[in-house]
Amino acid sequence: MTPYSGCNQIHGTDHNPFVDIARRTNTSTFGQEDIHSIFLGDGRYLSGEKAQRLYLRKEELFDQATAYSQENTNTIDPNVSLWDWYKQAVASQGLDHEEQDQLLQVGQDWGGYVGEAIETQSLRNLWMETSLPGGQFYAENPLLISALTSYARADNLFVASSYQKILETVAQPVIGHCDLRLNAEVVSIQTLPTSDSEHRANTLIKTRGGHEDRFDQVIVTTPLGWLQKNTAAFSPPMPASLVDALASLSMGRLEKVFLHFPKAWWQHDQDGLGGQGKFATTTLFGSPEYASDTNPGKWIQEVFLYSNVAPEVAHPTMLFYIYGENSRLLTEALQGLALGSQEYHETVVSFFKPYYSRLPSYDDQDPVCRPIKVLSTDWEHDDFAGYGSYTHLATPLKDGLATIQTIRQAMGDDRGIWFAGEHAAPPNALSTIVGAYQSGEAAAKSVVALQKKQAGPAA
Ligand SMILES: Cc1cc2nc3c(=O)[nH]c(=O)nc-3n(C[C@H](O)[C@H](O)[C@H](O)COP(=O)(O)OP(=O)(O)OC[C@H]3O[C@@H](n4cnc5c(N)ncnc54)[C@H](O)[C@@H]3O)c2cc1C
Repeated sequence: MTPYSGCNQIHGTDHNPFVDIARRTNTSTFGQEDIHSIFLGDGRYLSGEKAQRLYLRKEELFDQATAYSQENTNTIDPNVSLWDWYKQAVASQGLDHEEQDQLLQVGQDWGGYVGEAIETQSLRNLWMETSLPGGQFYAENPLLISALTSYARADNLFVASSYQKILETVAQPVIGHCDLRLNAEVVSIQTLPTSDSEHRANTLIKTRGGHEDRFDQVIVTTPLGWLQKNTAAFSPPMPASLVDALASLSMGRLEKVFLHFPKAWWQHDQDGLGGQGKFATTTLFGSPEYASDTNPGKWIQEVFLYSNVAPEVAHPTMLFYIYGENSRLLTEALQGLALGSQEYHETVVSFFKPYYSRLPSYDDQDPVCRPIKVLSTDWEHDDFAGYGSYTHLATPLKDGLATIQTIRQAMGDDRGIWFAGEHAAPPNALSTIVGAYQSGEAAAKSVVALQKKQAGPAA
């Protein structure tokens, strides 16, 4: 996979360490824009302010839903989804039938945030899914943002040039400063009886290659989906409360699909407000009624145009985000097909042509309108990614906060085994790269605290 295939946004710009790392490493970022380019289900195009108004109205309703979730978290029925709330809210807006329908169509884009359909999103725990705050940072540091349209907000930054340099910076303290074993799959994490060991290091780690090591304490950073599927890797078994906490969370299924063209044939501003001579950076295709073969669920599609980012990192590539059942359909259709093969290529093209062929200047006969390279991620079938993208708080989860606390605590105090990763992140950073980072810091502090406690007051 490429460094583009996972995350590409920095969620929350206030006090987010990744904002500073992005600046230090000259990573090209820009403030995430509102959407102002929408194809409705029947193929009609809404552009400019019309589309933006619709999008912002939807965002307003999501904000209201989040506030409602925060204020009423203990009393909301765990079976109620964000979709249940949203449908009622749309119906009470005093809109005519057509406007309601449009608002319902764009509401489906929640799937692109969490990787699963809005129908599964727990309303009770919705407040934990909002990202870290932002906005201030942009106002104070406009230089950070290298490409910006008048529509930009800076709650989120889009990383246009990939996370590569950020990743290298975060990895720096580890590489060359510790005994690092790459490509070593852990298959067993065993707590030995203390009497069995002459030294205190009583956590035995085994890898698939047969390597064994003993540690005083361990921070396990395998993904949620791995922990759910590999409870038997721990012996003695994890406490039932921890197994239940892990099982009550879900893995979302967000996938990214790249289509690379010989040139950006769509680069004409047809009131898409993408900037002079540019089509809109992001376009939504709501409830498509014209692609029933490959999109029987009329799942919303979202395309991002890499041709619009800062010129030094721009390229004629479209990025589609897909989620949930849509992801399952495509990744299953691609199973067993070799990347680069004609069949792989054609399968991807047949999935996305109904959408990209609607962009301005498309000409079916013109070779520049045909992708020359395509790539789909397949996190759903990836053991090491935990069979999905990241944690999703789905109905009927009862107490998301207590669940995450149980996971963060893991078996630390009793066995010196801690968990870190996006599934163990603080609320508001759950599912994100910054949340994973902060959970690692928290686990490291717990390790030090326990070490000090075990060493006694003299240490
Ligand atoms: C398509 C997509 C888009 C995303 N977009 C964003 C975004 O824009 N912004 C954002 O903040 N986040 C985004 N994320 C989420 C972000 O990538 C995750 O939150 C973050 O990577 C989680 O880090 P982690 O360390 O918890 O897990 P991971 O990054 O999944 O790392 C887990 C590691 O454990 C290793 N591993 C697994 N099993 C074993 C084993 N048995 N033995 C040894 N090692 C093992 C894996 O190889 C992997 O290296 C996105 C994710 C996806 C999939």
